[in-house]
Amino acid sequence: NRQILFVKRPKGLPDDRTFRLTESTVPEPKDGEVRVRTIYLSVDPYMRGRMNDMKSYIPPFRLNEVLTGGVVGQVEVSRHPDFQPGELVTGMMGWQDYSVVHGAELNKVDARLAPPSTALSVLGMPGLTAYFGLLDIGRPREGETVVVSGAAGAVGTVVGQIAKLKGCRVVGIAGSEEKIRYLQKELGFDAVINYKAEDVKEALKDACPDGVDVYFDNVGGEISDRVLSRINQYARIVLCGQISLYNLEKPDIGPRIQTTLLINSALMKGFIVSDYQDRFKEGLSHLAEWVSQGKIRYRENIVEGLENAPQAFLGLFRGENLGKQLVKVSEV
Ligand code: NDP
Repeated sequence: NRQILFVKRPKGLPDDRTFRLTESTVPEPKDGEVRVRTIYLSVDPYMRGRMNDMKSYIPPFRLNEVLTGGVVGQVEVSRHPDFQPGELVTGMMGWQDYSVVHGAELNKVDARLAPPSTALSVLGMPGLTAYFGLLDIGRPREGETVVVSGAAGAVGTVVGQIAKLKGCRVVGIAGSEEKIRYLQKELGFDAVINYKAEDVKEALKDACPDGVDVYFDNVGGEISDRVLSRINQYARIVLCGQISLYNLEKPDIGPRIQTTLLINSALMKGFIVSDYQDRFKEGLSHLAEWVSQGKIRYRENIVEGLENAPQAFLGLFRGENLGKQLVKVSEV
């Protein structure tokens, strides 16, 4: 059983020293437990926060233990009445070939609905984050302008498409020409900005002639400062992520935006997707319907091999992924 351990708390950007690949024996399930063979594992930006020894909404990773995250796998051995060998399941499990978990911590994956990997992407945590953040906090109305940063990622691609379904003008900000093309040509975004190649301030003027009504913020930092300087009265700002700040060693000092919020009677609200746990079923049924109707399209960037999980994770901070970044550990 190959495993990836978390062995060193990073300062700044994590690197190879953060992780170590080891081997252990394949665990046996006890009563109520299930042994799951890992098929896909998810690498997510929030994991960077868990690498710091700091109190947050989720406890930090412990040193010399296996990293954990979202996994889709197949039941190999079950000592829980609800699960049979061969079934596909999802839950929080280790970065390893096999995990043993209590059945109560698993959900079944219906592969007739969509490919199993989608339980970690558009029909999983990132899709739900987009759905609830945009609809519950952003509350987009027809004709409004919605700007999303991190637009070509797992959350951003879904945000933009839901906003289009609601009849909004959608502006996406992302970091490569390939991403920009995808957003505009394949997802139908109305305007796109490559923040690595363009002057974001000027580009926003062209892209948002009527100002910004909803800003879905995945990145924070300077990009967000620029967007916030263009908000309209009663704008809603959805604080979803701040990836541009996750690896900073010192706090980032930016413009003080309270006045902007005040004079525009704007709302800025943070959230964690699990705030909406009680409504996940509702969110998933809408997302699944839109996906099956072809109204929401998705991409997954799949890296092969457990040993490549650390690089796949680091790739998030280099912008290597278009859509959801996953690691394929074994065959379905
Ligand atoms: P993505 O699939 O969007 O991957 C991360 C992307 O962020 C990269 O591809 C890169 O794209 C972009 N990025 C990386 N560094 C920077 C930077 N310095 N400045 C601007 N962009 C950068 O990840 P997710 O969709 O999974 O997550 C998006 C955001 O949402 C993250 O901030 C994450 O923490 C947050 N999140 C919050 C949740 C919640 O419950 N609140 C739940 C899930 C995610 P590019 O090429 O465009 O730079």
